[in-house]
Amino acid sequence: MKIEIITIGDELLLGFTTDTNAAYLARELAAHGVEVVRRATVGDDAAAIAAAVREALDRTGAVITTGGLGPTADDLTKPAIAEVFGRRLEIREDIVAMIEERFRVYGFRGPMPASNRQQALVPEGARVLENRHGSAPGIWIEDERHRWVAMLPGVPREMRGMTGDVIIPELRARMGEVREVVRSRTIRCMGISESHLADQLGDRARGVRGLPLAYLPSVAGIDLRLTTRGMSSAAAAALLEEAVAELRPIIGAHIYGEEDADLADVVLQRTRERGLRIAVAESCTGGMLGARLTTIPGSSDVFVGGVIAYDDQVKVKLLGVDPGTLRTHGAVSEETAREMAAGIRRSLGAEIGIAITGVAGPTGGTPEKPVGLVWIAVDVSGRVRANHRIYPGHREEIRQRATQSALDVIRRMLGDA
Ligand code: ATP
Repeated sequence: MKIEIITIGDELLLGFTTDTNAAYLARELAAHGVEVVRRATVGDDAAAIAAAVREALDRTGAVITTGGLGPTADDLTKPAIAEVFGRRLEIREDIVAMIEERFRVYGFRGPMPASNRQQALVPEGARVLENRHGSAPGIWIEDERHRWVAMLPGVPREMRGMTGDVIIPELRARMGEVREVVRSRTIRCMGISESHLADQLGDRARGVRGLPLAYLPSVAGIDLRLTTRGMSSAAAAALLEEAVAELRPIIGAHIYGEEDADLADVVLQRTRERGLRIAVAESCTGGMLGARLTTIPGSSDVFVGGVIAYDDQVKVKLLGVDPGTLRTHGAVSEETAREMAAGIRRSLGAEIGIAITGVAGPTGGTPEKPVGLVWIAVDVSGRVRANHRIYPGHREEIRQRATQSALDVIRRMLGDA
């Protein structure tokens, strides 16, 4: 099956919002054997929407749109597409009742705004697609030649939910047996550079078992992605498993997970399994490490708390850092990081203390301590590992990299699960 995606919104066209919907849909559809042959973006303009949909219908006869289903004046998707199909819009009282009910459940007082009635307008003969994730339902409109358009909301969370709930099942039912899919597996690595990783992989640096290897570096480390095309789902799964099994022992301890694994989650699991608890002392990351850990549900049995020790006075008063250490070595130093880690562990009664202190920039760097220099110390029941790195990038990137590295130091100190 071949389809086209049209994303709608001035904000996409102007670049104020990145079009993540099209990327998500393309990935999801390919994984289910649906080939996306063209993607287009148009603004909130009825004529432009109609023209794009008309052209796509002429080419492939199968279109998914996102955006422009809301209650405001710039939401023009339904009238524009209804016109392409030569249908009138009619108000559906069952949808009005459903939206009113949603307003009541969410605790809004008073009557539903009149503009929300617009969300209950449906082209005659079109099918309403239930949206369990928001107020605007989707629409499926089809003509006698089986050319169709599925209209989904623009809000990414709603669009993703509806893709899984209705679009994929609908397309699967229409396609019958799927012979060819696009599948991928991602291995997440940390603590190794892209070039070291390629060296370590040797003959397999470019690919393994005939599958090309993509290197995707980010602040979270390096993701290695293997992708299959034109295979059945079962054959793809088997080949990817073999390829991953071949790579795993070569990359070894640099791997912290697969697919969308979060290093904070990995660390919490390992710490929990060992019956230990974590406390953090953060300077340049200002609470980012604590935030990463507490983002994971159920972190409270492992994460005790922390101190944002930004000012030297806080390092001294709350963490017990020796003023002499600060005078002699400075706040960004191995000695201070070690004392911060030991101090937070002691004062919060945790087995693991983590300290991060660095120069996040853009100012404050010196020849000896340049912007990007970060010292990380991890104290596990008195066993301390301290290391430093000079991270590239701007302030936010340096803070994110330092946080991810601190998590990786704990992961490595705790060893394999
Ligand atoms: P609503 O009912 O909330 O108005 P809608 O279907 O009308 O939803 P839009 O108003 O077009 O959708 O967009 C809603 C939000 O989703 C906006 O914040 C917009 O930036 C975002 N959004 C829309 N399209 C995309 C896209 N293709 N990729 C990422 N974000 C998007």
